[in-house]
Amino acid sequence: MKILTMKFGGTSVADVERIRAVRDIISCEVKNGWNVVAVVSAMSKDTNKLIDLAKQVGVESLVDPEYDALISTGEDVSSSLLAIALNHLGISSRSWRGWQLPVRTDSFHSNAKIKGIETDKLIKNFKTGTKVAVVSGFQGIEQAGRITTLGRGGSDTSAVAIAAAIDAERCDIYTDVSGIYTTDPRIKRNASKLKKISFEEMLEMASLGANVLQTRAVELAMRHKVPITVLNSFSKEEGTLVCDEEEIMEKNIVSGIAFQKNESQLTLTNIEDKPGVAAKIFGPLARSGVNIDMIVQSNTETGLTNITFSCPVDDLDRAKKAISKAKENNLISYERLIENKNLAKVSIIGIGMKTHAGVAQKMFETLSEENININVISTSEIKLSVLIERKYLELAVRSLHDAFGLQNL
Ligand code: ASP
Ligand code: MG
Repeated sequence: MKILTMKFGGTSVADVERIRAVRDIISCEVKNGWNVVAVVSAMSKDTNKLIDLAKQVGVESLVDPEYDALISTGEDVSSSLLAIALNHLGISSRSWRGWQLPVRTDSFHSNAKIKGIETDKLIKNFKTGTKVAVVSGFQGIEQAGRITTLGRGGSDTSAVAIAAAIDAERCDIYTDVSGIYTTDPRIKRNASKLKKISFEEMLEMASLGANVLQTRAVELAMRHKVPITVLNSFSKEEGTLVCDEEEIMEKNIVSGIAFQKNESQLTLTNIEDKPGVAAKIFGPLARSGVNIDMIVQSNTETGLTNITFSCPVDDLDRAKKAISKAKENNLISYERLIENKNLAKVSIIGIGMKTHAGVAQKMFETLSEENININVISTSEIKLSVLIERKYLELAVRSLHDAFGLQNL
């Protein structure tokens, strides 16, 4: 049986007209001989509206099972509408809620992880002549039978997980952009669309601010080797294939530039330079749920040192509180706590960095030519990130894009 998984995001099913357009895209694939599992998001903004309603009636926490029962319903509307539209066109179709398959998850409401997906019912249904199974994305069911959701943007993860479970040949993810670009075209107009990108690079891009795919979906696709094609439901352009590194012959040294706009940093001055100090600082931060990113500390001969770390601006107040409280309780000591919340992070990403020298030097030189100061640097095998003043973010992205010739990829 030839099975294709297709996922349509919120803007692709935003209204009745868009749902008809999606119906036509699916109908072409059915004519090509595919059995289609179509995973849908809620109609654009519907999830936000539901979240807002929950807040208005006083939802106490995001781990309330009732919260998930509510916010998962947006997907039920779009999946049934799409199934009706397909049937109306004579393409045999039915909708499936997450619990009907079921998509089994743990019980971390509002951010549940998938434990397994049963696909027997879908296969059986295809065998009886149904051509399209429209599945509500974003939803699952936990052991005690309550509905769960997979975190914002979770329909991507639903689609990849179903593609892996049903052993689909492909997973096509339809969105409102035409693929993965070397950087955000709103900042750099001549950003180019990549034909292929490796899972690893995509993972870095997704977690570093390119909002096209949910990071967890990419992780899952990488683990199960599910090739993803990112396509535009608004135009017929060729998309971007996210695939295994081995399938990419010409590996780019740098494939893309990602960025995060709202970063902040905290520096603790004159802390003792001895074993256990970092653990004492980062323990309370972790317990407060602060999402720490970059960390720098250096050795000194005085026995005292500074430690600087970065986190999203939204986490800064929580971080400051956790640190000050630890000081009050004599768990840590430092002289001053210095904050800067006007920062942004820019990262260059490319699998070719594994084998090429001089990339860091070129990045630093480019930034220095623009007189942009670097606060913190961090690296991985395929990524180099710098923390800079937010007001230079766009300039940095543009000049790095030019310096690495990304307009010609
Ligand atoms: N509707 C959900 C959200 O808005 C899931 C998704 O769109 O992927 O986050
Ligand atoms: Mg989405």
